Amino acid sequence: MEKSLKIGVLGLQGAVSEHIFALEKAVKELKVKAEVISVRKSEDLVEVSGLVMPGGESTTINRLLSEIKIREKIIDLAKKGLPILATCAGAILLAKEGDEQVKKTDTLLLGLLEMKVLRNAFGRQIDSFEADIKIAELGKKPFRAVFIRAPAIEKVWGKTKVWANYKNKIIGAKKGNILALTFHPELTNDSRIHRYFIKMIVNFSR
Ligand code: GLN
Repeated sequence: MEKSLKIGVLGLQGAVSEHIFALEKAVKELKVKAEVISVRKSEDLVEVSGLVMPGGESTTINRLLSEIKIREKIIDLAKKGLPILATCAGAILLAKEGDEQVKKTDTLLLGLLEMKVLRNAFGRQIDSFEADIKIAELGKKPFRAVFIRAPAIEKVWGKTKVWANYKNKIIGAKKGNILALTFHPELTNDSRIHRYFIKMIVNFSR
């Protein structure tokens, strides 16, 4: 019998249930055998074949990562190839380098992607906006991206590559098993990004 996959969503703070819902929808559409779970402690990570790090408040998620002592485990598994999809605040946390705003808050970045992130890069006044983005990996149809007090990626280096752009800003970066996006793909009905991520997981688990 085909083994069922477990996909984890880091369930500490932020858009957790939205990602769970989007993943469950994508699982159905792809007809793969998978269960989606909320990861709230280190032991939950043992069985997952992929992890989503949702958006929310990077300072809060950072504090909770320390409190439940899960940061090192995530870093370790990511380095062993665990597929990770990080969005917005989650993307900030994956970076190697942050701007002054990140430094001021003593956020302990996981350092998994060679990129520098800028918090609230679209201006604090502009709380949120939507835009149609062309993403080569998703085909011709633009993706409706929702930005909420979104960060941007100032630059990438090393093995980390640009995955998506909006105007003159980098809004997505990828290195092998790790994909970081500064917008919220879980807030639209378009499940192409969650399906893309599930395919990364399926390839990894083979
Ligand atoms: N501005 C938030 C932060 O810096 C991120 C916003 C979000 O995740 N939607 O953590």
